[in-house]
Amino acid sequence: MKYVDEFRDGELARGMARRLAKIVRPDRDYRFMEFCGGHTHAISRYGLEDLLPTNVRMIHGPGCPVCVLPIGRIDAAIELARKPEIILCTYADLMRVPASGGDSLLKAKAAGADIRMVYSTLDALRIAETEPQRQVVFFAIGFETTTPPTALAIRLAARKQLSNFSVFCNHVLTPAAMRAILTSKDDRVELDGFVGPSHVSAVIGVTPYRFVATEFEKPLVVTGFEPLDVMQAIVMLTTQVNEGRCEIENQYGRAVSPQGNLKAQAEIADIFDLRESFEWRGLGEVPASALRLRETYAQFDAERRFAVETPVARDNPACECGAILRGAKRPHDCKLFGTVCTPETPIGSCMVSSEGACAAQWTYRRFDEPTREERMAS
Ligand code: SF4
Repeated sequence: MKYVDEFRDGELARGMARRLAKIVRPDRDYRFMEFCGGHTHAISRYGLEDLLPTNVRMIHGPGCPVCVLPIGRIDAAIELARKPEIILCTYADLMRVPASGGDSLLKAKAAGADIRMVYSTLDALRIAETEPQRQVVFFAIGFETTTPPTALAIRLAARKQLSNFSVFCNHVLTPAAMRAILTSKDDRVELDGFVGPSHVSAVIGVTPYRFVATEFEKPLVVTGFEPLDVMQAIVMLTTQVNEGRCEIENQYGRAVSPQGNLKAQAEIADIFDLRESFEWRGLGEVPASALRLRETYAQFDAERRFAVETPVARDNPACECGAILRGAKRPHDCKLFGTVCTPETPIGSCMVSSEGACAAQWTYRRFDEPTREERMAS
């Protein structure tokens, strides 16, 4: 397949690994965070860590929207769905995320709540049009990638004067999370650079990451999801570190332009406003890190229409999702990984979403192999 097969060539990947082995300095470590869960997935799926020199370490970041959503927001969505007049529409990967007291959207649905899995925001709009006697709430989550479709649904609902459609908005922002990681006071991870997200960057471009280089003196390389993309990004980051450069580079020029998608950005800016602060699992309250609907579109805001309260809720104390999302721990560090917690019996969100670090490592059986630390010690 064009733009796929040529980026999965094993011999080219091994060639890049040989090149990387030549350029890494033996007297230092390199710690790069792949922000995005899609990259975490690609790294596990293609076994890329096995191709890296032992002093190049990849650290998983918080770029999995299902994983970073705090339990209180899931509890609030379940509360909404239990109202008899409401149909809650959601993407499938939210259904099994554990909520408080062992609850989940799936369990709430089994107990009678009208929760429907949809493939797009337009599916939710269609339900609102065909069932005008019910209130349809779209449970919107995701980074800048999934925000434009939500904006489009709100614009269409306004145009069609749909009074029974609203959005429970949980859209979050990538640059704010990167800043939170770089300024975290608790167990801050030492990083030498970021592998920057692909799809998010197709929307926002590369300029919003500039502060990573100018304020924090870290390089960042925006890259695609294929294995050769990721390998090339690691080579580019290593080269920058060796040369003492801190620049924002774009390896993914086939999909990401420097300015991003201006039309999508204008749509987002028209419909959404910045929240002062938003809670992230693992990062806590992060200023200016999420969106809400502007006053102009307040009638489509489910939080205002149904006076939604977000309860304070705690993760299972044995679950290490928070530390994993900060990059401070790895799935293997969790005592529940692969024993009590598996994709069939998830205890934390990182085991539910396909982009979660725990699910990625479980799915590709990376836990069967010696860890990098064990390989380095032997
Ligand atoms: S293995 Fe399960 S319990 Fe442990 S951190 Fe991952 S999701 Fe949480």
